[in-house]
Amino acid sequence: MTSAGRFAPSPSGELHVGNLRTAMLAWLFARSMGRQFLLRVEDLDRARAGAEAVQLRDLEAVGVTWDGAVVRQTARSALYGAAIERLTKAGLTYECFCTRREIQDAPSAPHSPQGAYPGTCRNLSTAELEIRRASRPAAIRLRSETAEWTVEDRLHGSYTGVVDDFVLRRNDGVTAYNLAVVVDDAEQGVDQVVRGDDLLSSTPRQAYLASLLGLPIPEYAHVPLVLNRYGARLAKRDGAVTLGELAAVGLAAGEVRDVILQSLGLPAGELGEALGSFDPARLPRGPWIWNGIQQPTLRKGA
Ligand SMILES: [Zn+2]
Repeated sequence: MTSAGRFAPSPSGELHVGNLRTAMLAWLFARSMGRQFLLRVEDLDRARAGAEAVQLRDLEAVGVTWDGAVVRQTARSALYGAAIERLTKAGLTYECFCTRREIQDAPSAPHSPQGAYPGTCRNLSTAELEIRRASRPAAIRLRSETAEWTVEDRLHGSYTGVVDDFVLRRNDGVTAYNLAVVVDDAEQGVDQVVRGDDLLSSTPRQAYLASLLGLPIPEYAHVPLVLNRYGARLAKRDGAVTLGELAAVGLAAGEVRDVILQSLGLPAGELGEALGSFDPARLPRGPWIWNGIQQPTLRKGA
């Protein structure tokens, strides 16, 4: 089995400097520890025509290279189906017919944390199941036997978070992210997951699911996001944030790469040359604030 890190973008649009920074970090983590680096396109949802090609081109432009062929989740339904079937045979799934509205309006179950699925459909009788099945397609949920789970994160230490009866397959038949990511990482030999810290809160669910499936738990490192000057997640409205947009205002891909490296306390230059200086223990722990093209670091020689 390979030992690998990975970057796994959703092809929903162009990558911005925050996404590129996370990809560069994932690459640095993997390569500095002698791992392979894989590229997986998470196209089960929100795929936009042409976006993948632009994303791959932009990753290469900042020095993020990968081993082997790009893997796409839409080609892997059989793997996800097999995992859900294994859980179902073990009595660890159930059908859920709730609408989004019904879940919002349902009173929370006692002792269950805020935002957790209240378990409305957990114990439907055979008769109830038949009535519900006739009215709408079911989502498949995990029959969780715990309310929380603890993961170890390289940057956050020990992190305990909610595990509820989360969705494994949506009622439109699309595999849920939490299931796909667990199956893919294990099947691809990914033993190190480096990604944005907005995903830290769903990591206990994924690690718990991996343990139920008898799959190894990868090493996690959730890295700080890039925020705009108002402290919100970087977005389109923040001006030039993609390589294409930055090139249009005079900043070449190599210069964007250098600005990102400097934000990490690493020397400017080819990504591979930063490997010698890369030390996870010395990474900045707070978010990087992107002040746009006006920020002094973007004014070369200023
Ligand atoms: Zn339900």
